[in-house]
Amino acid sequence: DRKFFIGGNWKMNGNKKAIDDIIAFLNEGAAVDHTEVVVAPPAVYLDYVRSRLNAKIGVSAQNCYKVASGAFTGDISPAMIKDNNCSWVILGHSERRHVFGECDKLIGEKCAFALQEGLKIIPCIGEKLEEREAGKTNEVLFRQMKAIADNVKDWSSVVLAYEPVWAIGTNKTASPEQAQEVHTDLRKWLAQNVNAEVAKNLRILYGGSVNAGNCKELAKKPDIDGFLVGGASLKKDFITIVNARQ
Ligand code: 13P
Repeated sequence: DRKFFIGGNWKMNGNKKAIDDIIAFLNEGAAVDHTEVVVAPPAVYLDYVRSRLNAKIGVSAQNCYKVASGAFTGDISPAMIKDNNCSWVILGHSERRHVFGECDKLIGEKCAFALQEGLKIIPCIGEKLEEREAGKTNEVLFRQMKAIADNVKDWSSVVLAYEPVWAIGTNKTASPEQAQEVHTDLRKWLAQNVNAEVAKNLRILYGGSVNAGNCKELAKKPDIDGFLVGGASLKKDFITIVNARQ
């Protein structure tokens, strides 16, 4: 039984004043039992958000590095995230891959280390438009998936996000059928390459232009276990998305 999961990835947005407004509507409407809700503010606001948010709502970092400490200017460690009482980290987000040049190998190493340090992880995978159009969607996703899976032992600490690059911030949401098809193929891959248990129990989120208008249709698909929401997670619409499947 896979509990529905809604992640709000704030990306590099917000300030304390805007965050106060978001926290207010989250505490009012997102501290629910039917769905697991986790929000990911910029790292400098992890403590600010965690100390103000209802404890039922999880807080995630958007990234972290693969070692405990040292001369890695600008980066943060899993222990620092935990030290701020946050228990999640998003890894391998499309923007980390394509704006900051993170490769499969680094993302795999980050997954291994974050898990070892006791964080729960939200690794992200997704194909670009040209890869989809060239019929390479599964090839790309399975390659990204293998780099993650090779580094996971405890799958109960993992929630996977499928975010097609062409759907992120574009208002071009994948259709429910397109997302369902990929999620089914990912479960088949997991059954063949990990085991049947993981294939059945792993929550697979869809991300990419999810909003209050399209979330209900997407949520009807049996292999879509929730969403990773960008832009709409900064607005009150996020509460509608949290309630997409009750
Ligand atoms: P948008 O919802 O803004 O398309 O972003 C999706 C995303 O990248 C979430 O991680």
